[in-house]
Amino acid sequence: MPQVEILAEVTKFLEGPPKMVIGGKSAGAVSDGTFEAINPATGKVICEVPRADAADVDVAVAAARQAFDDRRWTGLRPGKRTEILIKLADLLKRNMNELTQLEALDGGKPLTQASAEVWTSADHLRYYSGWPTKIFGDTTPSADDLFVYSLREPLGVVGGIIPWNFPLIMAVRKVAPALACGNTIVLKPAEQTPLTAIRFAELCLEAGVPDGVVNVVTGFGDEAGQALAQHHDVDKIAFTGSTEVGRKILHASEGNLKRVMLELGGKSPNIVFSDADLRRASKGSMIGVFMNAGQVCTAGTRILVENDVHDSFIESLVDATGTMKVGDPFEEGTGMGPLISEQQMERVTGYIEIARAEGAELVTGGERPTDLGDGYFVQPTVFANVSNDMRIAQEEVFGPVAAVIRVDDVEEAIRTANDSIYGLAAAVWTRDISKAHRVARGIRAGTVWVNTYGLYDSAVGYGGYKQSGFGRELGKESLESYTQTKSVWVNLK
Ligand code: ADP
Repeated sequence: MPQVEILAEVTKFLEGPPKMVIGGKSAGAVSDGTFEAINPATGKVICEVPRADAADVDVAVAAARQAFDDRRWTGLRPGKRTEILIKLADLLKRNMNELTQLEALDGGKPLTQASAEVWTSADHLRYYSGWPTKIFGDTTPSADDLFVYSLREPLGVVGGIIPWNFPLIMAVRKVAPALACGNTIVLKPAEQTPLTAIRFAELCLEAGVPDGVVNVVTGFGDEAGQALAQHHDVDKIAFTGSTEVGRKILHASEGNLKRVMLELGGKSPNIVFSDADLRRASKGSMIGVFMNAGQVCTAGTRILVENDVHDSFIESLVDATGTMKVGDPFEEGTGMGPLISEQQMERVTGYIEIARAEGAELVTGGERPTDLGDGYFVQPTVFANVSNDMRIAQEEVFGPVAAVIRVDDVEEAIRTANDSIYGLAAAVWTRDISKAHRVARGIRAGTVWVNTYGLYDSAVGYGGYKQSGFGRELGKESLESYTQTKSVWVNLK
């Protein structure tokens, strides 16, 4: 299969080398420290980026604070903010190929999936560009001698801490609503994938977002991330990542009681009933669990299958899995790339061993491909005869590993689906419309898909139940968490 060439603008950006964006300027770390960005498909170094610590976070937060306090963004006419956000969306599209390649290099995603990510990011920006002119307070009916109204105002400085699985989308999911509501932001991308966040911050400046409104610090979680979460001049942390780190963020945030929004892990149930269209269900389940090499918070990793179709479903799932080509993200036709890092690969292969030891039956995969060099690849893997209390069914693997569990009927399906500390997403496959709605209502999760898997939309709220987090992103539901209301009482006497 032909290999796609690296674009000249990508090489130029990498040779830069990429720096942080703080107060509208390109910046190295105060300490001068750097760390390596690694290509997970080869294990080779792509470039070095600044290693920010608490000192850099201080500088970035001060820049964001100043930009908020002098109202250079908040004070703009709302229509002007709309215009700038639209321009930013257009710039993402104009630089689509460059951003796509950077995302594929840094995160190991096949090019087609990386370009879909850039497209979605631009779509989020377009969606949020409509909001600045539509965020209102209320007037409250009151006595004749009073006038009472509310102002819906931004919070101030937002800290965005994001993971490596969808680096650009995650950056935009924090920046777009923060900006639409008039806040400023300091964004810390994951240490595994710092590149597109830096390029995005440069494009923000090009679009006309004033200096200091969007700042990016690159660094490690326990250094830059923790400093941001603890910072007393940050008004909100918007976090996407693991439940374990979410807990740390919550503790770190308590010093100044900043608002916290947590989008955390999942172990999402995907229920296939015997009256489902099995061909569609198996294909949808395959994509639901192996998309992005399973490194997706909503991955449908627990596939609950009604007993009488269990064997035929497994057969068709294995067939569907066989159609997915694992390989180089830059090679045409690749459906699944490597895992993000050596550490992640070891975690996933470790879980495969645990599943075997627990007595789950390996139906396909389970190994590292032997023909793909030093990249962090693991074959798409399916285990059958899993029981819901096994670790493989309870713990988030964050890799291409599906656990198939038998269920007897609707009640057992709902009970098993809910027997998890997580509640991020779920799906149900059936031709019976009442059953579909009954299950959708019965499952404790923030998203339920019926006869499909993994759909998202800029206008549809997204977030978790239980230990999958709290707060909602996307849609109008996200706006409340980036604003606060002020009640104003006027004595008319
Ligand atoms: P994942 O499991 O997807 O790797 P993590 O939850 O480990 O995600 O990391 C998500 C983000 O949280 C990353 O940007 C990471 O640097 C950051 N992070 C990790 N540890 C901490 C911490 N103690 N405080 C703040 N941020 C952290």
